[in-house]
Amino acid sequence: VPAFCHDEKLFTGGHCRSCLVEVDGRLVAACSTPARDNTDIQTETPRLLAYRRDLGELMRTEARPGGWVGEVLERWGVDGTRYTGVRSPRETPTDTSHPYLRLDTDACILCRRCVRACEEVQGQFVYAVAGRGASSHLTWGGIPFAETDCVSCGACADTCPTGAITDIDREKAAGRTELKVVQTTCGYCGVGCQLEVHADPTTNQIVQIEGAESPVNHGHLCVKGRYAHAFVAHPERLTTPLIRKDGVLVPASWGEALERIGQEFQSRPGKVGGLSSSRATNEENYLFQKWFRGALGTNNVDCCARVCHAPTAAGMRASFGTGAATNSYADLERADLILVSGSNATDAHPVIGARIKQAALMGTFLIVIDPRRTELATLADLHLQLKPGTNVPLLNSLACALVEEGLVDTEFVAARTEGWDEFEPFIRTQTPEALEAVTGVPAQRVREAARHYGSVEKPMMVHGLGMTEHYQGSEGVMLLCNLALLAGAVGREGVGINPLRGQNNVQGAADMGCQPDMLPGYAPVSDPAVRERFATLWGRAVPESVGLTIPQMLEAARQGELTALYIFGEDIAQTDPDSGRTLAALDSLEFLVVQELFLSETAQRATVVLPAACVFEKNGTFTNAERRVQRVRKVVDAPGEAQTDGAIFLALMEATGWPQEARTPAAVMDEIARAIPAFTGISYDRLQGDGLQWPVPTPEHPGTPLLHAERFARGQGKLTRVEYLPSPSLQGGSLTLITGRVLEHYNAGTMTRRTPNVTLETADYLEMHPKDAAARNIPDGSTVTITSATGTARATARITRRVAPGTVFLSFHFPETATNAVIGDVCDRVTGCPEYKVAAVEVSLVAGNLGT
Ligand code: SF4
Repeated sequence: VPAFCHDEKLFTGGHCRSCLVEVDGRLVAACSTPARDNTDIQTETPRLLAYRRDLGELMRTEARPGGWVGEVLERWGVDGTRYTGVRSPRETPTDTSHPYLRLDTDACILCRRCVRACEEVQGQFVYAVAGRGASSHLTWGGIPFAETDCVSCGACADTCPTGAITDIDREKAAGRTELKVVQTTCGYCGVGCQLEVHADPTTNQIVQIEGAESPVNHGHLCVKGRYAHAFVAHPERLTTPLIRKDGVLVPASWGEALERIGQEFQSRPGKVGGLSSSRATNEENYLFQKWFRGALGTNNVDCCARVCHAPTAAGMRASFGTGAATNSYADLERADLILVSGSNATDAHPVIGARIKQAALMGTFLIVIDPRRTELATLADLHLQLKPGTNVPLLNSLACALVEEGLVDTEFVAARTEGWDEFEPFIRTQTPEALEAVTGVPAQRVREAARHYGSVEKPMMVHGLGMTEHYQGSEGVMLLCNLALLAGAVGREGVGINPLRGQNNVQGAADMGCQPDMLPGYAPVSDPAVRERFATLWGRAVPESVGLTIPQMLEAARQGELTALYIFGEDIAQTDPDSGRTLAALDSLEFLVVQELFLSETAQRATVVLPAACVFEKNGTFTNAERRVQRVRKVVDAPGEAQTDGAIFLALMEATGWPQEARTPAAVMDEIARAIPAFTGISYDRLQGDGLQWPVPTPEHPGTPLLHAERFARGQGKLTRVEYLPSPSLQGGSLTLITGRVLEHYNAGTMTRRTPNVTLETADYLEMHPKDAAARNIPDGSTVTITSATGTARATARITRRVAPGTVFLSFHFPETATNAVIGDVCDRVTGCPEYKVAAVEVSLVAGNLGT
């Protein structure tokens, strides 16, 4: 039974009548009629066949449907129409303004699947059906499609059954049976969406990406995961090793490059360091830290978790005992309140952002804590628009309101927490009224938020880097934990604390021990028993002293105490704070190895550059933000002589006298399962389906979607008293800069800038409130400089009320902007994570450039 307007992902439409069947002689729409026992259902009676032909002819009056609907009409014998002269003119018959999507309303049968997908999957409301009767037609506002609010998720093209809405990749893939289809994990953000990648084996090229059905993304994707794959075959990919000779990087053989690296790193005991990559697989990260520790004898190994969610790990470990998400994404739909803090999820984690939007549209109470009016903030029931850098006083005042208003779950606090006696008198001093002037959030609004959070059955928290990349980042996370403990909102489905991890495998890189004080599985280096256990497993001693963090390594480089650095899959020249000092550190090194896809800003400073395979060119696993370990599968071959990171590390281990027995990603995972108790039950055989959420303590264990159900990993949950300390970054400057990502680009933009995404967002923009712009005579679209105590950035001004007066926002995806030149060296007091989210700045118009 055809059902043109039906899609499993959408609510039942019942618009098109193509699925009419006879039930006990009555005609009913099958899609919206519940089946009952003992019912006579006829699907192919002469009456139905005549009806369908008539319906098909009516459709042919209005449209020339192709795709699956066209095939069905052909089957019904509809090759023309008796109904002529009633066709209504189309507002915009075709549209090719968008870099990915193509629209041809002549093929539209008004099944409204695109309208519903846009609303019900993405929550974007780009499409509508306008007019009545014969003049009904699909509309997107009568403007070029590229100028609509479309976020390019592709859900409309995915569901359109006629080809009226399609995309350029779908067109390329149409009818090509020779394409191979591989399921793998998205290599952009930490959501971990599952992809179905269609590739042409003869040209070794990716043709199309679709969303795979999985508990993570339910077939949905964002503009990066679905469309931003052109970088894979980009002509600027590195294809051969390069070695600097006479100041110039020249092609070299793998043998020469590996020998040189081995010699240089082994000849500098205690003076080498390595920055592991959250872009790489678990297996590759595991091998990297193992090589540094076992062959090079140093714990100087760190990863980008240091500069994003290290405060989450530290804060949650201090409060709960485990520094990872307490729940699964599925709990977003179980919660009856979602508190989002410091996360612009619809831009930075779009598929989860869409799930939060859907929850809010379906009635889940949404509270957003953010200095910026993000998309989620516009949908929120309560937006607590705090001054940048005041998370700590705001969260303290929320906790105070919970206590003062009698909303504490006293049974939970008594049974499962510690520290109440010391905490209570302190928190009662942190009243919303007393802190209103500090945070800028009206006390009544804070109390209202506390009342909602404290009184619903299932309040859930989601947070991002706006919580962690602060002077008191780790302490801020502890205060989120305080709120959950006070409300008894942890250890159950639909409640808890869930960090949205930045990069695709930042969770995994930290899990694998790419941290100077932690071996795989967060085993402390300082514990002799731990070192002994790994020494037995590896057959090599584990160095005793805790290594250097990324900022410490860079400082040691500037001081000449660290002379060789190995960086892979990270462009720190662009992404690390205080760029001037980062560049000085890189330039101080005697030997720098960079392993990359492209000659990045960092790679341009290297002594040796190694060409690496990208996410579509290798096998392995990533761990997403809900602790789900998922397979990464090879789709195409790497270009030229590029190698996987794992293969390079195995070769280096051999070159430095430590050949490994485990030589495939699956075998390395088996070793990881022996090294990390939470991974004991994980093997490639068990990762065929939806992956496994750690801990998986035995080979039969189904994984752990929910943490801390019976007890916290540290025993009792800890209520922590945190005093507010204003950040040194707030001093000086008349404006406060916050930085973050935009939807179309990803971090340093190394990949997304080499795709048509660059036509969707062509540059970094400085968002500025109209009042601040007027005070400085800065017109919209003009070029401005942003100057702090450490440096100057340059961008185009975008005048908007998304930011409050006194606050400006800048993304960091284009090297020419130099966003991180203005970020200072202030770090989280506990983990050393840089304070990217606050900088005191001045903004001035670049003379003679008034824009539009
Ligand atoms: Fe990839 Fe993240 Fe987009 Fe999912 S939300 S498709 S993981 S970038």
